[in-house]
Amino acid sequence: MIRKALLLVAALATACAFAQERPERLVVVSWDGAPDWVIERMLREDKLPHTARLAERGARATMIQAFPSVTATGHVTLFTGAWPSTHGVVGNAVPLLPRAAHTVRETRSGFDARSMLVEPLWVTAAKSGRRVVALSAAGSFPPAPHVRMLQEAGVAADRFVQFSGFEAGIVGSEMIRGEGAQPVERAGLPSSRRPVRREEVEVAGVRVEILALDDPADPVDGYDTVEIRWPAPGVRPVTLKPQPAGDGLGEWAGPFQISRGELTGLTYFRLFSLDPATGRMELYRRRAAGLQGTEGPDETLRYLRAYGGFHDDAFFDTYGRGGLGPPIYRGGDGTAERRMLEIVRLDMEFVKRGFRYALERWNPDLLFHYTPMSDSAGHTWMGILDPDLPGHDPALAAKIWPFYEEVFRLQDAWLGDMIEAAGPQTAFALISDHGMAGAHTYFNGNYVLQQAGLLTLDGRGQIDFAKTRALVPPWGHHLVAVNSTEWKGGIVPAEEVEAVVRQVEAAFLAARDPESGRPMVLRTFRPAEFKALGIGGPAGGDLYFDLADGYYPSNRTAAEIVSRYDPVQRGGVHGMFPYRQKMHTIFIVGGPGVTPGTRLPTVRAVDVAPTLSRLLGIPAPAQSEGVAVPLGG
Ligand SMILES: [Zn+2]
Repeated sequence: MIRKALLLVAALATACAFAQERPERLVVVSWDGAPDWVIERMLREDKLPHTARLAERGARATMIQAFPSVTATGHVTLFTGAWPSTHGVVGNAVPLLPRAAHTVRETRSGFDARSMLVEPLWVTAAKSGRRVVALSAAGSFPPAPHVRMLQEAGVAADRFVQFSGFEAGIVGSEMIRGEGAQPVERAGLPSSRRPVRREEVEVAGVRVEILALDDPADPVDGYDTVEIRWPAPGVRPVTLKPQPAGDGLGEWAGPFQISRGELTGLTYFRLFSLDPATGRMELYRRRAAGLQGTEGPDETLRYLRAYGGFHDDAFFDTYGRGGLGPPIYRGGDGTAERRMLEIVRLDMEFVKRGFRYALERWNPDLLFHYTPMSDSAGHTWMGILDPDLPGHDPALAAKIWPFYEEVFRLQDAWLGDMIEAAGPQTAFALISDHGMAGAHTYFNGNYVLQQAGLLTLDGRGQIDFAKTRALVPPWGHHLVAVNSTEWKGGIVPAEEVEAVVRQVEAAFLAARDPESGRPMVLRTFRPAEFKALGIGGPAGGDLYFDLADGYYPSNRTAAEIVSRYDPVQRGGVHGMFPYRQKMHTIFIVGGPGVTPGTRLPTVRAVDVAPTLSRLLGIPAPAQSEGVAVPLGG
């Protein structure tokens, strides 16, 4: 009897193992710019609990990206399993093809689906009968080329839902300060012990009244309340009290709906401070973008409302310009960083809501999601944080590091929320497009080419393409393109290309930083000699190069061989040779179909799509060049 029961248990265990071989659903989440070295450190310090649990439920590996390790290239490599030489997304911008019909200077965004020359995983999965949802996946907008692939394969239109808001900006964020406010007296104003101060601001064509008042019910002596009057039917005035940035999100007023053309977006207000004596304020208004994709206007609006609003990436235009107060590296006391983090926290709250809506509404078998926040934080702060950058200031870095970490902790909380919402039969893959390092100096390659007689500027300081043989082109940074006769208007005959490449190589390798006298270009790569980097191809360059630590390649024209970053903030950069440790990124996969504790070797970005395809039980994308790494099971 006991023996029989044991057999039954064994049989059940086998049945369960078999049943668990495939997840019911796979969610692929990309944290833009998640460096392996940062994630490794945070995991070691138990600061990313949900990421740690996902890795425990499955496998974690260091990932080597394609070259250049930039956002569009990295994501499209992950999503297609093909190298840039095959998929064509050689950078965040790409040249227009075919070469014979376009000059070397014509470009298109590398994020545009039309720049992708091969089939992405969302098309492969939908062709295999899976329901797929892509929410801001790089290379998925506009969806038309991929919808067409599915139509040609006879796949029902409801198998693929896609949205992006990156191309649909309506109005940027702003800090309203009440500096132009005037005292007003008229009927219908809220009661106030001091003259109400009124300012009118325009938000995408809507004239909004901002009133500062001294609320008789508020014990504060002086201005203590701001009222927002949004002129739309049924929208009531909203009152806000000043509150410093914190851990909650209860101080945000909104949503307020705005439009531009056919786009509809939502905006929100947050009162960070109000001066009782003058009524001056720091009233932040969130950026608003529309959403575009495969769905009609009604469905798009339903999703937008459930979601709350597309990303508000305030790192560059607002925080970086002092709009939230002076950053710590300009003498600030951390107020600006705490505000920045609250803006990120709201963004994370919205992606949580958006994910839960997508799950219920479209019930996908495969879902792609993304956040840009960790990348923007890295660009903003890594010049200070990178401990290996010469001139590193550990005291300043120690002040900034907790804020950088907090961005990842908020992303980790989002991951945890998604795992909880999706349930135990869902597998998750956490991926990223590149790492991050600090830089102090731009290397101006076009200046070097000009000095070598390979590039000529016209009277306005622009590249004269009729007299230029080689250039760091507008669609690349880490590569040089020969202006060959393959390109429309090109001047270098095929038989001279190799000689030009050699001249470029010699000039670059001889280039010295005028301050230190040291070489800046460490090595060069020719596409034919380094297949494993995925360089070259129809959209690629003729010569790629890697720079010494601390340098970043510029594709601008310049009057000097180098330009320096801001001496304090410096730069957070990526794109460099992907085998460099700081460019390494992450691959974490867990859930049904992945054996807990699986040890993985270093994974290449091209291996991710074939690996996830196998997990889903579908073929790898058609032009995939990677291999499926074993996930156990
Ligand atoms: Zn970036």
